[in-house]
Amino acid sequence: MRIVMKFGGTSVGSAERIAEAAKLAVASAEQGHQVVVVTSAMSGVTNTLIDTAHEAAAGRWNQTVGRQLLDRHSAAAAVLTGATGPRHGAAIDAIARRVDRFEKLCFGLSMVHELTPRLLDAISGTGEMLAAPLVSVAIDARGVRSQAIDASDIIVTTDQFGAAEPLMEETRAKAAALLSPMLAAGEIPVLTGFIGATADGVLTTLGRGGSDYSAAIIGAAIDADEVWIWTDVNGVMTANPNEVPAARTLSEISYSEASELAYYGAKVLHYKTILPAYRQRIPVRILNSFNPADRGTRVTVDGHPSATGVKAVTSIRGVSLIAVSGTGMQGIPGIVAKAFDVVAEEQANVLMISQASSENNMCFVLSSSDAVRVVKALHEALESELRRGHVEEIAAQPVAVVAAIGDHMRGTPGIAATVFGALGAAAINVIAISQGSSERNISLVVEEKDAGLAVRALHDAFHLERPA
Ligand code: ADP
Ligand code: ASP
Ligand code: MG
Repeated sequence: MRIVMKFGGTSVGSAERIAEAAKLAVASAEQGHQVVVVTSAMSGVTNTLIDTAHEAAAGRWNQTVGRQLLDRHSAAAAVLTGATGPRHGAAIDAIARRVDRFEKLCFGLSMVHELTPRLLDAISGTGEMLAAPLVSVAIDARGVRSQAIDASDIIVTTDQFGAAEPLMEETRAKAAALLSPMLAAGEIPVLTGFIGATADGVLTTLGRGGSDYSAAIIGAAIDADEVWIWTDVNGVMTANPNEVPAARTLSEISYSEASELAYYGAKVLHYKTILPAYRQRIPVRILNSFNPADRGTRVTVDGHPSATGVKAVTSIRGVSLIAVSGTGMQGIPGIVAKAFDVVAEEQANVLMISQASSENNMCFVLSSSDAVRVVKALHEALESELRRGHVEEIAAQPVAVVAAIGDHMRGTPGIAATVFGALGAAAINVIAISQGSSERNISLVVEEKDAGLAVRALHDAFHLERPA
């Protein structure tokens, strides 16, 4: 089999974890599989890079960060290689070069005081470029040849910095040229997750948490038989285990369930990961690098239909509900269209939409980081409606979205009743509701403070702690 294995930040968070990741990759290679590794940055590094970039652009460049990155990665390299040999020297060189590049970029920022999305990508992708040489030397130390490769040499993307999309044809050609000979020779290439480059070679990133997406893109590009996501929990669970201690691992879910879960806040998978795998029907597994004996979750075409129909409950925080309201909105055509034109122009991603049948109010949910901008633009676009009194108010409110998800909710009566019964019993006020026409989810807007309670109430009401 040809397997793409992605290791997340905690799975490569220390020299010990990297050695463990290398062991897992090598074990599969020794079973006769062709293995490509995709690595995240060591835990915490991407956040540090992004914070440092923002601070530098504000004139407060913390010059100790470069040294800390150098120390942390060099120390890991020393542990992994025994601090001797040509591979140790090469890894130290690679790390030093990348830290140097990061410092030069921060220096530039502290001079020009302007952080463009393009510069932020150039900086935030550094973490993966520091981690890949470490994972590669760790594999080499176990006796299997390995090379670290910057994914910017393989994944060709659009120039949407911070949320770049792969150009699959170009990516496929580069992957074949670079990776196929290595795989044929029994080597394990170690690619940086999270990053790509435009056709002109400008570095891009796929979005926060995007290394999962990188793995699926590479899997599709090399026609992998499976994509394995190694993380720090036993697979995709019935809820975030930090939010619901009774959450249980789902042994099998469908591609559509995995997409919905990821889209509605299950951070264990980046929300774009499933599509490239689904298009080629590549099975995806989510596994625990801290507990590799556990079978984790398998993502397949059918998933396991479960008795109640609801398989998992998720939550998204850091979002805002934008409400456009006014008694005069009734029957005035085009207000909704205008509102969504604004959202599109502002490049804000809408997570959920709901409109009261009286048409007195329409509301939608988007990231709080977009809310102020969108509200301002809505005031401008609906200026004449506001003046005439057709629209009375355009307001944003910080909220959370809670969703109940499962393919077989469709055709299972009583799910909505259970949802509202459970929230009512917990005295949680539901601000807005939406059910996708696919009937794979019911999503609810609640106050942010109620989100945890709402997730637990739904998890209990559908008895998700019990095996289906
Ligand atoms: P990685 O660094 O391996 O990419 P992430 O932190 O991005 O890991 O994702 C794994 C985390 O996702 C888990 O530790 C858990 O806290 C969180 N999580 C949220 N929802 C779920 C869920 N439904 N199932 C499993 N984990 C979840
Ligand atoms: N390191 C990147 C991030 O923290 C990508 C990833 O871990 O998936 O967002
Ligand atoms: Mg992740």
